[in-house]
Amino acid sequence: MNVARLIVVGAGIAGLAAAWSARRTAARAGVALDVLVLERGREVGGKARTIVRDGWMVEGGPSGFLGGRPELDALLRASGLVDDAVPARAAAKRRFLYRAGRLREIKPSPLGFARSGIMSVGGLLRLGAEPLIPRSSRTDDETVWAFAARRLGRQAADRLVSPMTLGIFAGDARKLSLASAFPKMARLEREHGSLIRGLIARRGQTSSGPLTSLRGGMQSLPRKLAEHGGFRVRCDAAVRRIDRTDTGWTVSIEGDGTALEADAVVIATEPWVAASLVRPLDASAADALGAIPCPPVTVVALGFDSSARARIPDGFGVLISRGEDIRMLGNLWETSLYPGRGPAGGILVRAMFGGAVDESIGALDEAEMLTLARREVAQLYRLTAEPVFEHVVRLERAIPQYVVGHALRVAAVERAVESMPGLAVTGFGLRGVAFGDAAADGVRTGDDLGRRLATHRTGSSACL
Ligand SMILES: Cc1cc2nc3c(=O)[nH]c(=O)nc-3n(C[C@H](O)[C@H](O)[C@H](O)COP(=O)(O)OP(=O)(O)OC[C@H]3O[C@@H](n4cnc5c(N)ncnc54)[C@H](O)[C@@H]3O)c2cc1C
Repeated sequence: MNVARLIVVGAGIAGLAAAWSARRTAARAGVALDVLVLERGREVGGKARTIVRDGWMVEGGPSGFLGGRPELDALLRASGLVDDAVPARAAAKRRFLYRAGRLREIKPSPLGFARSGIMSVGGLLRLGAEPLIPRSSRTDDETVWAFAARRLGRQAADRLVSPMTLGIFAGDARKLSLASAFPKMARLEREHGSLIRGLIARRGQTSSGPLTSLRGGMQSLPRKLAEHGGFRVRCDAAVRRIDRTDTGWTVSIEGDGTALEADAVVIATEPWVAASLVRPLDASAADALGAIPCPPVTVVALGFDSSARARIPDGFGVLISRGEDIRMLGNLWETSLYPGRGPAGGILVRAMFGGAVDESIGALDEAEMLTLARREVAQLYRLTAEPVFEHVVRLERAIPQYVVGHALRVAAVERAVESMPGLAVTGFGLRGVAFGDAAADGVRTGDDLGRRLATHRTGSSACL
C-alpha cells in the first residue's frame, strides 16, 4: 500500500481535526497516510484547557460549543465522546447585562426587554424602527458598530451590540468587520432588508444547535482525539521552520535541530506563529497573517460556597457595558450552565478580562489579577462572601480579531496556499473564532489535503 506522510503543526482542535480527517479521507481512497502532529506545548488542546482541582472544574479557554455541526459530531464519534456531550441547562437562556450600576436581565419578550431599563424610550423607539431602515448600498467593509448604529440606532450599538461583541470576541465593535465577524447578520440584511424582518421570516429555522459542553471538560475532546484518531502526536516539539524541497517539505523542530520530511504540511497554529512559519515561503501571506491582532485575555475563576447563591443569579452570565467603572468584560456562571463544575452547592464564576478594549491587562500578574477580580465580583453582586477557590489563566495573545480588511487577509493566505501544493493553513485565526468553527475548518482542511494526497499517490493526478 502507498504511504504518504503528513505533518500537522499545532495540536489545538483545528490541527487534531485536520490530522484525523486527512487520514480518514486518504484511507477511504486506498492510501495510507502517516500523520504526525507536532505541538509546542506539554499537552494537546491549545486554547481548550481544562483544569480540575479541589472538586472544581475550570475551563481556561472555551467552556462550550454550539452543537449540531456535523464535523464536530464526527469528531465526538471518533473520540468516543458522544455520550459525554452535556447540553447547557435551561437556565442558560437567561442572560444579563450590567448597566448603570445594576444587573439587568435581557428578556426575550419586547415588553420585558423594554422594562429592563437597558435602553431609554428614545433608544427603544429607534430600535423598533429597524424594519423601516432601507438596505445599505455600502460596499466597503463596515464595522460591527457602524452596522448596528445604522440599523438599530447608536444606543443599541453601544448598549447591546458592543457588550455582545466583547462577550464573543473580547473584541471592539468599532474595529471588527461585520462581514467577517458576524456574517449571519450581514446576510439577514442582504436577504431580508432588515434584521427584525429576517429573524421573523426565519423563526423556527435554527441556524445552530444547543449550547453544549463535555462531561470531562472541553480538553477531553482533543485528548481523546489524539488517543483514538489514528495519528501520532509529539508534544514539546515547537516547529521553527518549514521549507520546500524538490519532493515535498521539511519541517524543522526547535532545539535539537531535527528536520522531518513530509509530502504535505498543515499549519494549525495561532495566526502570528503561522505568519513566522509562512514568511520564508510567501511574504504576502505572512504579512496578512501577521496583521491579525490577538489581544491578551485573563480568565479568573472564583468559586464560592452556597452562601453566595442569593446574590448570583441562575443563568448564563453577565456582560458589562463599558464606562461602568468595572474592568471585567463579563462573567460566566459555570455551575449554572453544566453539571460537575464544582462541589455540591458550590458556585463557580468565571470572570473575563482584557481583550481589544483593555490590552494593558496583560501587564498584571496573577496576584494583581486575583485582587482585581475579587474586588469587582464583590462589587457586581454586592457580595460579602469570600471565594473558597481561585484559579487564574493568563493568555498573552488570546482571540484573533477579525478587524476591517480581514476577508482580504484570508484571501491573501488562500491565494498563497493555492500556489504551494501540499501546504494548508487552518485554525481560528481565519474563518471563524469559535471552537466549532476551528474544528470544522480543521476537518475540511484535512479532508481536502487527504483527497489531494490520495489522488496524487494513486497516480490519478500529477499535482497535489
Ligand atoms: C479565553 C477564551 C475563551 C473562549 N471561549 C469560547 C467558547 O466559550 N466557545 C467557543 O466556541 N469558543 C471559545 N473560544 C475559542 C476557542 O477556544 C477556539 O476557537 C479554539 O480553541 C481554537 O483552536 P485552534 O486549534 O484553532 O487554535 P489553538 O487552540 O490556539 O491551537 C494552536 C496550537 O498550536 C500550537 N503551536 C503554536 N506554535 C507552535 C509551533 N511553533 N510548533 C508547534 N505547535 C505550535 C499551540 O501550542 C496550540 O496548541 C475561546 C477562546 C479563548 C482564548
